[in-house]
Amino acid sequence: MEKFYDDNGLKFKCTNCKACCTLDGGAVILSSSDLSQLAKYVDLTEEQFIKVYCRWLENSDGKQYLCLKDKNKSQCVFWDCEHGCEVYEGRPVQCRTYPFWTKILETRNSWEKEKSFCPGINCGETHSKSEIESELSKYEENKTKRIIRQSENYASFS
Ligand code: SF4
Repeated sequence: MEKFYDDNGLKFKCTNCKACCTLDGGAVILSSSDLSQLAKYVDLTEEQFIKVYCRWLENSDGKQYLCLKDKNKSQCVFWDCEHGCEVYEGRPVQCRTYPFWTKILETRNSWEKEKSFCPGINCGETHSKSEIESELSKYEENKTKRIIRQSENYASFS
């Protein structure tokens, strides 16, 4: 299917405005590989990591998904106002692939609307169609590995 960004790619550069790490009501949902990477990064077992840094979030499908805790009601548990993301090198795919997410890339309009939230949209370097598609597939593939509460491998961690 033809994409609105086919020919020219899209411009994006993170301005470090922090909006996406301090979003009221936002949630970073974790996949099994996110969990394993983050747990290693902070030197905990996966079970310990879940206890210390995670919560369960009920989605519209009625299932509960593992996500990072927040602090002060609106900040990611790993956001530090002086140093930024405390797990930057080990951060989850959801954070790494922003803003090249399916919903944001749906139409030119959805992309332009995201600018009211993220000042980096349409700024800085151009990302080619192949770069964008690669980020998009990482994002989509990661979604298939999200951790659902009571699923076989994680039931004992709940
Ligand atoms: S893990 Fe890091 S990049 Fe992702 S939301 Fe939290 S502070 Fe931001």
